[in-house]
Amino acid sequence: METAIQSMKMYIGGAWMPSSSQQTFTTINPANQEPLAELPRGTAEDVDRAVKAARAAFESSEWSMMVPAQRGRLLLAMAERLRRRSDELARLETLDNGKPLSQSKVDVEVAARYCEYYAGVADKIFGETIPIMPGILDYTLREPIGISVQIVPWNYPLQIAMRGIAPALATGNAVILKPAEDTSLTALKLAEIAEEVALPGGIFNVVTGFGEVVGAALTAHPDVDHITFTGSVPTGIAVMKAAAENVKPVTLELGGKSPNIVFADADLDEATNWVVRSITQNAGQTCSAGSRLLVEQSIHDELVSRVARKMESLALGPGMEDPDLGPIISEQQLRTILHYLDLAKQEGVTIVTGGERADGDGLAKGFFLRPTVLDNLAPDHRLAQEEIFGPVLSVLTFTTVEEAIKIANGTEYGLIAAVWTNDLNKAHWVASKVKAGQVYINTYGAGGGVEMPFGGYGKSGFGREKGLEALRNYTQVKNVALRLHMKEPTQPAGKTAVKLE
Ligand code: NAD
Repeated sequence: METAIQSMKMYIGGAWMPSSSQQTFTTINPANQEPLAELPRGTAEDVDRAVKAARAAFESSEWSMMVPAQRGRLLLAMAERLRRRSDELARLETLDNGKPLSQSKVDVEVAARYCEYYAGVADKIFGETIPIMPGILDYTLREPIGISVQIVPWNYPLQIAMRGIAPALATGNAVILKPAEDTSLTALKLAEIAEEVALPGGIFNVVTGFGEVVGAALTAHPDVDHITFTGSVPTGIAVMKAAAENVKPVTLELGGKSPNIVFADADLDEATNWVVRSITQNAGQTCSAGSRLLVEQSIHDELVSRVARKMESLALGPGMEDPDLGPIISEQQLRTILHYLDLAKQEGVTIVTGGERADGDGLAKGFFLRPTVLDNLAPDHRLAQEEIFGPVLSVLTFTTVEEAIKIANGTEYGLIAAVWTNDLNKAHWVASKVKAGQVYINTYGAGGGVEMPFGGYGKSGFGREKGLEALRNYTQVKNVALRLHMKEPTQPAGKTAVKLE
């Protein structure tokens, strides 16, 4: 599988097809730049075809009359197939994205968990009865929105795709998935799985291609009903503007500059492990990466030295060898990170460790970067404000709880935050004041958390994915009021009511 270049097709209306333009593009292995596959370069015409197929499938009685429990069973069948094909899918994800094999295996398992979790929800989505007045029966129905477009980034291709697909299908929508151009391979495997479990044709579609063409055509299409976009802030703004033209709802999951806030009374072994892990997992290319370390002044030297030593002990290599860090996704992303590191050097920022490309044994052809610690940054420094999206940790110090909270809240993002302290009063106080969609206390991420609502404050986006909260994105509420001609029942003549003792 490592060397054979495959020619792939996309999946629209239950059929496999090339691009209407017949054009393709190549996806490469970021560990060695070798080509992996040729993919259809989708067009606006392909998008239109996918929307028409999704609309027809959504309106069909096969889907709209399917009992909810059966939608749940289809998702369970997808979970089972994801697990059965876990090795194959994980290898493919690692080849395409570069991440260490064990991290890809976790991604496949999390994708299966999304199917399982929302399978259980499919027949538990119900409305309410509302007491208006005597003689009116008022109730609500929670209906699917219609066609849900899922535009996903390259960092967790399978996992993030399933994060939106599973609740969208569980609630009875049709889905069009647009994978990132750098990592489309596992999205097409998902289409194979949808076909295997006999999801009705057109209910799940995958259109491959570039964001400016396929993504833009999807977000501007008047017959799309909802868009979940996960990616960068500038693209999120473009998506929102396009959706506004057709007054379509969007769920935006964007970037972050999330802090680990470490107080002097914290368990430093634990804090060190998680600070390093949260900025090196997936080579720091994680929206919820712990990219800022806010450390109490009195333990600054000790903690920074521990973090640097731990980072220096990490192994870099091709993801297939399951190192601690794989390559950066692309040359372009590597250049973006190196640009930030040049800025650090020009401005005399203290680089405690890393700071450069790694091109030693077996790494020269890949996009590898040494994990990096930038110390003593001012809170308003660009390197402490902007999302670098690589294994680069920005360190800032504080002396009081108030200062820690101020710095934590001092970026335009607000995705997640972690507080490290043995004082639970302090921990809860900070958790209540930090502006972030998720706050962790003495841990980070808590195992991925399919069950926990996830989403941003500020420019990290709006709407919540994961957990039961996500169902709000994929359903709309209809209120029905029925006037009943209610009268007190009269007794038929000559009869007396039977008295029940
Ligand atoms: P990106 O914004 O460049 O691309 C994301 C997706 O949007 C890709 O599929 C791309 O093809 C598509 N796209 C590009 N231009 C488009 C357009 N004009 N219209 C519609 N779609 C378009 O992001 P990326 O570089 O792939 O991903 C990295 C970013 O994603 C980071 O900022 C990261 O923080 C964020 N992210 C957020 C989450 C989250 O859940 N909050 C998760 C993962 C990544």
